[in-house]
Amino acid sequence: MPQRKIIHIDMDAFFAAVEQRDNPALRGRPIAVGHDGPRGVVATASYEARPYGVHSALSSTVARRLCPDLIFIPARFEVYKAVSQQIRAIFREYTDLVEPLSLDEAFLDVSHVRSATLVAREIKARILAETHLTASAGVSVNKMLAKIASDYRKPDGLFTIAPAEIESFVATLPVERFFGIGAVTAERMHRLGIRTGADLRQWEESALVHQFGKAGHAYYGYARGIDNRAVTPNRVRKSLGAETTFAEDIDDRLRLQQELDGVREEVWARLQRHEFRGKTVVLKLKYDNFRQITRSKTLLSAIEDEMQLARIAEELLAGVNLRGRKVRLIGLTVGNTPEACTDCIQLRFDF
Ligand SMILES: [Mg+2]
Repeated sequence: MPQRKIIHIDMDAFFAAVEQRDNPALRGRPIAVGHDGPRGVVATASYEARPYGVHSALSSTVARRLCPDLIFIPARFEVYKAVSQQIRAIFREYTDLVEPLSLDEAFLDVSHVRSATLVAREIKARILAETHLTASAGVSVNKMLAKIASDYRKPDGLFTIAPAEIESFVATLPVERFFGIGAVTAERMHRLGIRTGADLRQWEESALVHQFGKAGHAYYGYARGIDNRAVTPNRVRKSLGAETTFAEDIDDRLRLQQELDGVREEVWARLQRHEFRGKTVVLKLKYDNFRQITRSKTLLSAIEDEMQLARIAEELLAGVNLRGRKVRLIGLTVGNTPEACTDCIQLRFDF
């Protein structure tokens, strides 16, 4: 397997940070997002509350006892979801391989870029600019290490575990910090005298399997910094496309067609890579005044080959009257998967 480049992004004290962003009176104060009451729990604590021992999943009663000045704020999930969509849109500008773990966390496979660390830095800056919130990023060669790295310099951190550093890094790591080793397993390991990666590394693979079942194979890998889990986007893809913004605006039809050919090649490659099929082709043009138009064509069945896609794309472009306007961006999207029967799901809900 060629070496991968994986980024883990994790928003800092997400719910609490959103509340402090939206209400200046809460900034710099210990707050807990969650329900205040005998049965309530803390969903997220602000960094000001954490030194008191207040953390997520703690009962609200205990939290209040630990930090008498704690301010409870009811959760506003619609707002958190909206921010979550904003950050995911940013992630998807860098890669199609985005695997959200929760509203505020995701893995990104950016194996195709030269420097994953630079991309992570750019994503952090974009998140700050667009949401006024900070995120921490971890960069490494797999999910386990990227996740550990994002936690390493929180908040507003960026930490890279480079291939040459993996061995020594993992050796000193307490087993409960490994992503994939839960609290119960960590406790069992402690009883076996396994406290760090170095301890874990002493064990034969067969012995670990004997102790922990099939998971023992994975633990054997973790001790060596190996984690082959793929970054798997779990959203249902509705469309797939590509676009390009020109260095200089174009009003020449022949050049536009050439640019469209390039975009179409990219779209076709992505369709193959993701085994995605669709029967609607959408052409998008953005003019130099940023006005945008789309032209689409829907077939009776999914696009079969690249020639067919090329023909339709050309036809759609030919149908656009430029009226002398200059074009700054051209894009092509394929959507409307035949077997994706969203209406069926809707019908089931209506029952
Ligand atoms: Mg977080």
